[in-house]
Amino acid sequence: MIGFRFDNTYTSLPAPFYAHCNPEEVSAPEVVILNEALAGSMGLEFDDVGEVQLAALLAGNELPEGATPFSQAYAGHQFGHFTMLGDGRAHMMGEHLMPDGQRVDIQYKGSGRTPYSRRGDGRAALGPMLREYIISESLAAMGIPTSRSLAVVSTGEMVMREEALEGAILTRVASSHIRVGTFEYASDPENTVPLQSLLDYTIDRHYPELLSAENRALALLERVVERQCSLIVHWMRVGFIHGVMNTDNFTLSGESIDFGPCAFLDTYNPAQVFSSIDQQGRYAFANQPNIAHWNLARLAEALLPLIDSDREEAIRLAEQTIHQFPSLYQQEWGNMMRAKLGLGSIRDGDEQLIIDLLSWMHEKHADYTNTFQDLMELPDLATYQDEGFRNWYDRYQRRQDSDELSESESRELMRRSNPAVIPRNHQVERALQAAQTGDLAPLHLLLEALKNPYDLPEEMRAFQATPPMTERVYQTYCGT
Ligand code: AMP
Ligand code: MG
Repeated sequence: MIGFRFDNTYTSLPAPFYAHCNPEEVSAPEVVILNEALAGSMGLEFDDVGEVQLAALLAGNELPEGATPFSQAYAGHQFGHFTMLGDGRAHMMGEHLMPDGQRVDIQYKGSGRTPYSRRGDGRAALGPMLREYIISESLAAMGIPTSRSLAVVSTGEMVMREEALEGAILTRVASSHIRVGTFEYASDPENTVPLQSLLDYTIDRHYPELLSAENRALALLERVVERQCSLIVHWMRVGFIHGVMNTDNFTLSGESIDFGPCAFLDTYNPAQVFSSIDQQGRYAFANQPNIAHWNLARLAEALLPLIDSDREEAIRLAEQTIHQFPSLYQQEWGNMMRAKLGLGSIRDGDEQLIIDLLSWMHEKHADYTNTFQDLMELPDLATYQDEGFRNWYDRYQRRQDSDELSESESRELMRRSNPAVIPRNHQVERALQAAQTGDLAPLHLLLEALKNPYDLPEEMRAFQATPPMTERVYQTYCGT
């Protein structure tokens, strides 16, 4: 007994929300990596399953006991343009009940064609699936809401992209896959039945405290504004760039999801973009809060028919809620940056102090993660010799002296707010390249280093190093 406890509720939604379909068989699946810690917390036990059977199971050649696979329909704004989408290369094995009662989706990604595949092949390549594994597990270790990765199997088949690549399937675990795009898909002013069922379903699954709200649609919108705001502030704290914040990759649960050309900042640059397909910088680092605001406005639009039967009034109420985002974000971002600096109280001039540090970092191409690490020690003045920094540091010290936190409280706050280690792009590339030649040791070592980001063991210090010039990563690929 592996311990799957499937209990699907999503398929109680009206028919157009999903389609039953099975994964397409692959020729020679092999397990590349299995997340035993996550399996354990999910109440799953694979010890008695032989390697061949495990691979067959995680590739979808054999269905997990109790699974009735389906794919989800959704729409979405991709780079600003509305499109009908749906899981084109993903199969939901089902909703699994964890030992603590929590309900999670278990989804295979790269598992073959579905009714929503359009012209796609339904497949994924090994590199991007391992990238998603590394990034999602790293975010989770940082305490940031995210989907998780249970396993990656290679398929034994090649997928044709710009070149032929080894195929792979990722097992993704998420608190749900309900997206802003799912609401866009359901929204129809002429027929509000599907939208109403999706709204009720989402509240029941994620926000049961809103069941008795007077205006459910508005209450849900308000809650998602809060959750997404808090998520983006986390991303900004650790220097994470999602890369494709399309509305179909933007969840109602407030979890990070769908990692494509994502990456972490090395040197601080607010305009940083890694994605090869983001020519305009729409999803640049510092633009993420603006895009979150924009995506939330798309959610508000989709919800309009249920906010009020009078459209004018619905728009007025929706705008009121959405307009709270910028000030909420500004406030939470300020608190987060203060925490990174070990400051416990709010004072006039804090924002300028923060902005001046960021401007200095930008100008000097300072490393985002390591600068905050250095601030936790007395910065070694050899590397921080320039006058601009010294002036800023004097101001910072005066500000710290007058703060309500003691020195040890302040250091503890900084330690908890500043990851010592992030999945640096050059390290990720190294691990992925080695894995593609069958050497999994660098992948496992990197994952080990990322496990304790706020408490990095001494022997893992090498992972703090910035990339040598020859290994700088300028672009990541979407891998679809
Ligand atoms: P993503 O950028 O990964 O979020 O994908 C956007 C949309 O394209 C989703 O609806 C995916 O299911 C679909 N898609 C991406 N790659 C493929 C593929 N190889 N085959 C079929 N559909 C795909
Ligand atoms: Mg997606």
